[in-house]
Amino acid sequence: MRYLSFYETVTACEECDLLHRIPPLKGGERFKCERCQHVLLNVHEHAYGRILGTAGSALLMLALALVFPFLGFSTNGAERSVTLFNVVTVLIQQDYLILSAIVCLALFVFPVAYLFAISCLIWSFIHNNINSALKRYFTRWVISIQPWLMVDVFLVGALVALVKMNSLADIELGLSFWAFCGYVVLLVKTISLVDRRWLWNKVAGPGPEHAISVKNATAVEEGLIGCHFCGATQQRHTKHCSRCGHSIHSRHPNSLAGTIAFLIAAIIMFVPANVFPIMQTTFLGGSEPSTIMGGVFLLWSLGSYPVALVIFLASVVIPLAKIFSLSWLCWQSCKPTERETQQKIKLYRMTEVVGRWSMIDIFVVAVLTGLVQMGNLISILPGPAVLSFAAVVVLTMLAAMMFDPRLLWDKDREVKSSLSEEVE
Ligand SMILES: [Zn+2]
Ligand SMILES: [Zn+2]
Repeated sequence: MRYLSFYETVTACEECDLLHRIPPLKGGERFKCERCQHVLLNVHEHAYGRILGTAGSALLMLALALVFPFLGFSTNGAERSVTLFNVVTVLIQQDYLILSAIVCLALFVFPVAYLFAISCLIWSFIHNNINSALKRYFTRWVISIQPWLMVDVFLVGALVALVKMNSLADIELGLSFWAFCGYVVLLVKTISLVDRRWLWNKVAGPGPEHAISVKNATAVEEGLIGCHFCGATQQRHTKHCSRCGHSIHSRHPNSLAGTIAFLIAAIIMFVPANVFPIMQTTFLGGSEPSTIMGGVFLLWSLGSYPVALVIFLASVVIPLAKIFSLSWLCWQSCKPTERETQQKIKLYRMTEVVGRWSMIDIFVVAVLTGLVQMGNLISILPGPAVLSFAAVVVLTMLAAMMFDPRLLWDKDREVKSSLSEEVE
């Protein structure tokens, strides 16, 4: 496989709309956009074998992570150990159905569906035994759920929960905890091996060919539309991509209005998320609610500086920074300042990458609820702020997905061409 080159046709960068003719690539090579440096295509060496290996091992690790105890907990002679599954069942027993659904989707349903679909796809590439409609369905599934896989965030949440409880009780890491670490590493590795252009090319062949008349032209200037779902380019006025079937637009319709609407909703939800308690701790009969900031201050006063900092960053700084930077980017796509567009794009990429890490505190509360259930001696329950905070994270993620970075580059081109006209 190594010496066969991989062929993909004309493609438009999904971040800046610049057209590229990708040269045939060998395994281990990748192709970046000339203008914004976004990686357009990453062809991995021995991709079939590696993806099948990591995805299969990840599923095996998950099976191991489910059978043994995940965490053990002992205080004042009382002991309790929980499996990963208990974390979900305790939440269901306590009637926190939405929170249990979030944990279930993020930990089991989405990752398993992802791993299963990608393994079936690779298997079908080797043996050619799945019909193409099913292959397309699996590929759509793989690409759509990838941003919502949060097992790595859950792992950090579980570690934070451990440090939080360390002063109150003895915590023991079960066998499953280590299997879960393996599951996280293997899943993250699998995701890094899957490239969307490569995958669609394998499923449905290269996209349609087009002649490019001008060098460094954008798709819109050449009368084309770049599909952001599979990377193929289509003629203007096409409604659906001929390669992946996804609806396509030259620019995301209502991108700014949609982003702003999601941001306003996120700001509204941010208020109850911080005013109401996120967690209620019952200790020796007395119940004590704590808000996000209350928890940060408590951890700081107890000397757990790194954990206090992690929670403060994930729960307060990241959501606020994300809301501010996306609002600023919306403003910039209407009234650009002189700042380099490349820097604005870096900010946009950062908001996309760090956004999901805000879920840490939600997972901390979920793990503590599952683990610490000893009646009046000590027990922890989620507070009313949990759902509003989860809504903030999801709404800011949707806002980032709704924002079309090509608008920034359109303005960039407009400003540059008006400047050059003035000089002439
Ligand atoms: Zn680009
Ligand atoms: Zn497409």
